[in-house]
Amino acid sequence: MRSIGLMLCQWADSDYHVEGADVVRAKADRVDWKRCIPFIILHLGCLAVIWVGFSWTALLVAAFLYAVRMFAVTAFYHRYLSHRSYRTSRVMQFLFAVLGNSSCQRGPIWWASVHRHHHKHSDEKADPHSPRMHGFLWSHIGWLTSEKNFPTDYSRVPDLAKFPELVFLNRFDQIVPLAYGALIWLGGWLMERFAPGLGTNGPQLFVWGFFISTVVLLHATFFINSLAHVLGSKRFETDDDSRNNFALALLTLGEGWHNNHHRFAHAARQGFYWWEIDISYYLLKIMSWFGLIWDLRAVPESVYAEARAQRQTNVRA
Ligand SMILES: [Zn+2]
Ligand SMILES: [Zn+2]
Repeated sequence: MRSIGLMLCQWADSDYHVEGADVVRAKADRVDWKRCIPFIILHLGCLAVIWVGFSWTALLVAAFLYAVRMFAVTAFYHRYLSHRSYRTSRVMQFLFAVLGNSSCQRGPIWWASVHRHHHKHSDEKADPHSPRMHGFLWSHIGWLTSEKNFPTDYSRVPDLAKFPELVFLNRFDQIVPLAYGALIWLGGWLMERFAPGLGTNGPQLFVWGFFISTVVLLHATFFINSLAHVLGSKRFETDDDSRNNFALALLTLGEGWHNNHHRFAHAARQGFYWWEIDISYYLLKIMSWFGLIWDLRAVPESVYAEARAQRQTNVRA
């Protein structure tokens, strides 16, 4: 009974650690099945498609919600919160964090803190998701299930931890995903009632827009931790195994230019040239024209010079 209560507390409050966060973080890697139950439910929920069936409306809504939330993960969780590659207002910062949170990839501060750690220790032993160090499967999904990776290390992100609204979202990181799921169900119910021609309903839209869309979104994001450190080309001689991968860049709205990103992580763009498609950057640029964000950080000329020098070396070789 006590362990069920403990489990519920941990699900509800991501900062709740009986032994203390430092003790948990110091443990060896171990899958924490109880903490992972919501994550497992998310995957099993996709099977409910057998009962709710298919409609073009549900598929299009799922695809649209995938794109919006992928943009939130790449442009807000990653490029803004983790790397501060542009500036914005406090209100927009909060909205960005809420939208990112709807991706079901835990809280904004947790995400940024783990990611900064990844850059600091890329493909070293301390990197929680390095294919070189821990194998492909662990880098893709295993590390997320490990007990030691659950607590947020606020000391790595003092610039974010000073905002109580971000700490609140981070601590109670299930609120936004639950509200997101409820809104989708409501949307489906409203469509069935007021636009039956669309051929969908609450349960169907919920399965497609919440379960399927979110699971595809999760694995596409995780590919950057796993595949983008294994498959693709290497323009810069970085100390890690990061790669540039065109297919992953399309799938993740620009994150596939991962070797570029590891060379200069503070740039708002990850596709460094016009032919390196980076949809998140185009959208960020449009947002800057409307004054929603500003001071987008560019790629320094010295980095472009390095790329040119590397190209000439490759041609000679
Ligand atoms: Zn990486
Ligand atoms: Zn990064």
